[in-house]
Amino acid sequence: MKIFVVNSGSSSLKYQLLDMESGAVMATGLVERIGDAMGKVSQKNWPGEARESEVDREMSFPNHNAAMHTVVDLVTGKDTGVIASTSEIDAIGHRVVQGGETLFKSTLIDDDVVEKIRANCPLSPLHNPANLVGIEVARELFAGVPQVAVFDTEFHQTMPPEAFMYPIPYKLYEDLKIRRYGFHGTSHRYVTEQAASLLGKAADKVNLVTLHLGNGCSMAAVRQGKCIDTSMGLTPLAGVMMGTRSGDIDPAIIPFLMKEKDLSMAQIDDILNKQSGLKGICGMNDMRDIHGAAGKGDRKAALAVDMFVYRIKKYIGAYYAVTGPLDALVFTAGIGENDDIVRGRVCAGLEHLGIAIDPARNAGRKKVATAVHADDSKVAILVIPTNEELAIARATLSVLN
Ligand code: ADP
Repeated sequence: MKIFVVNSGSSSLKYQLLDMESGAVMATGLVERIGDAMGKVSQKNWPGEARESEVDREMSFPNHNAAMHTVVDLVTGKDTGVIASTSEIDAIGHRVVQGGETLFKSTLIDDDVVEKIRANCPLSPLHNPANLVGIEVARELFAGVPQVAVFDTEFHQTMPPEAFMYPIPYKLYEDLKIRRYGFHGTSHRYVTEQAASLLGKAADKVNLVTLHLGNGCSMAAVRQGKCIDTSMGLTPLAGVMMGTRSGDIDPAIIPFLMKEKDLSMAQIDDILNKQSGLKGICGMNDMRDIHGAAGKGDRKAALAVDMFVYRIKKYIGAYYAVTGPLDALVFTAGIGENDDIVRGRVCAGLEHLGIAIDPARNAGRKKVATAVHADDSKVAILVIPTNEELAIARATLSVLN
C-alpha cells in the first residue's frame, strides 16, 4: 500500500510518498514560493537509506496546479522518480487545517466534503483555501485514487464546552461558530500515542502536556489520552509566544492600536501574525540565531527567550491543574526536538511539581524519542520527534479500512 501525503500551504506544497507495508519513506519533498517569479523544488528519495538521492531545482510555479504536475513528474520520472507511474499510488492523504464543526474526523473526500472544507474557509482564510487547491488538483491528476482529508482540528474535538467556548455573547458562537478549535492536532495526537507506548501505558490512560514548539507553537492538555484543552484558538494566533505570532495578548490592544496608530484591520493582522512573537521582541525568529545573539549580549534576544520560556511555563501550570496526575511532558517540533536550552529552561524550577530534568540526558538534539527526566522525577519528560506525514498516512489508511 503506497500513500501519497499532500500538505499544501498558501505558497508551498510539502509531499511525501510512503510505503505502508515496509514503513519506508520513498520520497519526501517541498515546493516553495508558488506564485512568485522564481520558486524551488527539492526532493529526497529514500532518505536515510543507502540508495538515497536528491533533487534540487530552481524553477517557477505559477500556481499549485503547476507545482503538483512537477511533483508527479519528479516522483514518477525516469531519473528522479521512485515509482514508474501514478497508478502505483493507492491513496492520497491531505492535510486540511480547519474542519470546523462540520468535519470531525478524517474522511474520504467527495464533493460534499469539498464543499464543507470550502464553507470552513472563513474560519481559516490562510490555510483552508490552499488545502482545497491541493485537493482539487490532486482529484484531477489522480482521478479514481481514493483521497482522504485529515484535519488539524480533529484531535481537539474532544475538548469539553467549558474549554472550547469563549466568554463572549453566546449568539456569536451560534451565528459564526466562534470558539476554540486548536491546531497541530495531528502532531499532538502522534506524540500522545508515541508517549503512551514509551511509557508502557494504554493510549487512553495517559495524562500529558504536549508541547509542539516550532515556528508555530501550541500546547495541549491530554487527559486519559484525549485532548481536553489546547492553546491555539479560533485561529493559530492564540496561545504561547511563537516565531512571528504574538500568542495571547490583551484583546483591547487591538482597538487601542487602531485608534492611536490609525491602523487598518489588515495592518493589525499583519503585525500580530508576522511581526510579533520572538521577531517582534528581538527582530529574529529563528531560535538558533536568537541564542547566538543572546550569547553575545543582545538584551532583546535574551528577553525574547525569557518571555518564550515564561509563557510556556504558565501554560504547563494551567494544564497541570486540569489533566490530573501527570504522566509526562512531551516536547516536539523544531525547537522542542532540537533546543536543549529551551527544554532545560522550561523545566527549571518545576521540581516542586514533580518535574525534574536531567541536564546530561537533555543535552543535544534528539533525532529519536528520548527520555530526558531525572531518575527521581515523578513526571516523565520526553522528547519525541513529530511525524505529521506518517500520522496523516496512518489516518488515511484507517479511513480506507
Ligand atoms: P514549522 O512550524 O515551520 O514546521 P519547525 O518545527 O521546523 O517549524 O521549527 C522551526 C524552529 O525550530 C525554528 O525556530 C528553529 O530555529 C528551531 N530549530 C531548528 N533546529 C534547531 C536547533 N538545532 N536548535 C534550536 N532551535 C532549532
